[in-house]
Amino acid sequence: MRPLSILCLALALAGVSISALAQDDDDAPPLSTQTQSDDAKFIAYNEPTLAFTHAEIVDGTGAAPLFDQTLVVTNGRIAAIGPSASVIVPSGATAIDAHGQTLLPGFVMAHEHLFYAMGHGNYASMLYSFPRLYLAGGTTTARTGGSMSPYGDINLKLAIDRGDAIGPDLDVTGPYLNGAGLPILKMHALTGPDDATKTVNYWADEGATSFKAYTNITRAELKAAIDTVHARGFKITGHLCSVTYREAAELGIDNLEHGFAVMTDFYPGKQPDVCPPHSQTALADLDIHSAGMKSLIALLVKRHVALTSTLTVFETFTPGRPEAPEGARALLIPELRKYYEDNWTDTQTRDNNKPYAVIFPKMMKLERMFVAAGGTLISGTDPTGYGGVVPGYSAKREVELLVEAGFSFRQALEIATLNGARFLGRDKNVGSLEIGKRADIAIVTGDPVRDPTAVEHMPLVFKAGIGYRADAIIESLNGQVGLY
Ligand SMILES: [Zn+2]
Repeated sequence: MRPLSILCLALALAGVSISALAQDDDDAPPLSTQTQSDDAKFIAYNEPTLAFTHAEIVDGTGAAPLFDQTLVVTNGRIAAIGPSASVIVPSGATAIDAHGQTLLPGFVMAHEHLFYAMGHGNYASMLYSFPRLYLAGGTTTARTGGSMSPYGDINLKLAIDRGDAIGPDLDVTGPYLNGAGLPILKMHALTGPDDATKTVNYWADEGATSFKAYTNITRAELKAAIDTVHARGFKITGHLCSVTYREAAELGIDNLEHGFAVMTDFYPGKQPDVCPPHSQTALADLDIHSAGMKSLIALLVKRHVALTSTLTVFETFTPGRPEAPEGARALLIPELRKYYEDNWTDTQTRDNNKPYAVIFPKMMKLERMFVAAGGTLISGTDPTGYGGVVPGYSAKREVELLVEAGFSFRQALEIATLNGARFLGRDKNVGSLEIGKRADIAIVTGDPVRDPTAVEHMPLVFKAGIGYRADAIIESLNGQVGLY
């Protein structure tokens, strides 16, 4: 059994002229390119003009749901949204009766990975299965949360941009910017601030558009990394430990991963630049209504530091939580499925996991306190841990967990869509169902406002107006996660 400290997280009423719609770098490649690929069998709709009629719409802006709506897509973009009684379906459009279904914006997830943690420090690239599964699970835009094989991730991003592979649009985060002392062989250990500058510049030149500091980085290395990333026009996040949230905010970091779960600000006897052992257990003892905690939240809000909620991966460490759904487990190769199921059983009774029974509800409360104080919460799924967070299922689960945390469904959806798009600078193009934006649309059967588990029933996912058969994509990958 690997110790938790390493295993943990290592891991948008009227029609508009289409010619007036902005065309920019984020447009999808020509349809012809996409249909030529081997994935054409997964495409259910690829028409120049589509109209969803009689749909419920939750648009991702936090607005109240709208009922009996018609949404028109032309050339991959949203051309009209409004009451079905007043929006005219263009002649020649393919009409899809969406009565009983709800249209959501495609998820914008900010902490995904393109590798699977295989155990014993092996992180295998999933450049084939994961992008397909992310898309099938409703994620149409993703930022990776740290790379174990940066060239693979960057080349996949470019292949998706060209239409040679299906998957979400990607912001690729470079290799983990870590300090010395963490025994993960695939990670470089920075040798100081100059190395941090050199490493950031190298990977920015190679195509990384995001960076992430990791648990053992020093304040000096983090400062050098932050300054260099900002000079390159990008953003940097951190899954920190050696550096406190307060220190990182004061150094100018843009984002912190895992909500408040990995802060060491309140760890008794915390030494500068040192990641203390069992740091997460400090959260178990923390008074979340203390003056110190309120002050930290106020600082993060003042400095515009976004937090990424990754409740999905922490759920897997928490006793008494459900096992990953059968469909998710069926995606794993048999050895990994057994590894996950054995670990899940152990997690229910193991001493190491007991604090999470206290930590997990505290994480949820702190994320709501942060948002109530004006903070920007974005979300991701972090498919690491011991393997229970599986793309295709994970983003839906994150939305359910945000609702369980106390957010309304429309708030949870905004966190999982528009907030992420704004953070990534992509909100003019994606993140909500609004006229002029790209038609990235997840179709859910049922009403997720009344019952958030409806998100689990998502037969179709549209990216740039192309509709993919989500269930067929997922089924095609059964028993393959772990292979490629
Ligand atoms: Zn991660």
